[in-house]
Amino acid sequence: MAKKGSKLYSITKSKCPYCHEGYFFEGSFFKGTPKEECDVCAGKFSKEPGFYQGSYYVVYGLGVAVFVIIWTSISLFFNNLSFNATLTTIVIGLIITAPFTYPLSKIIWANMFFKYGTREEHKKM
Ligand SMILES: [Zn+2]
Repeated sequence: MAKKGSKLYSITKSKCPYCHEGYFFEGSFFKGTPKEECDVCAGKFSKEPGFYQGSYYVVYGLGVAVFVIIWTSISLFFNNLSFNATLTTIVIGLIITAPFTYPLSKIIWANMFFKYGTREEHKKM
């Protein structure tokens, strides 16, 4: 599994991108709202107002990945399914995975900008 200090650890365990100790989200993971700052190291989880709007690029990429996985699975195992049935299955799959991909996109986005062990440098900005 991912070790502490790697971005994968922070993403899979929903931990602070700086210290990998504090929890990243305000309340539940499925609510998908990042805290203002870490409870443990006080590192800020936002660079500027609207910082997490960029995570929509990530959630788009995750949506495409879900689409490709479902489409490939249908093509391999149910290749006599009609176009409409395939499309309906993909849409249902995207709706079911949305509560996971939405918060996941935010912590992936945060990990693209904040590195492990750099909280002090970030606070000086
Ligand atoms: Zn922290």
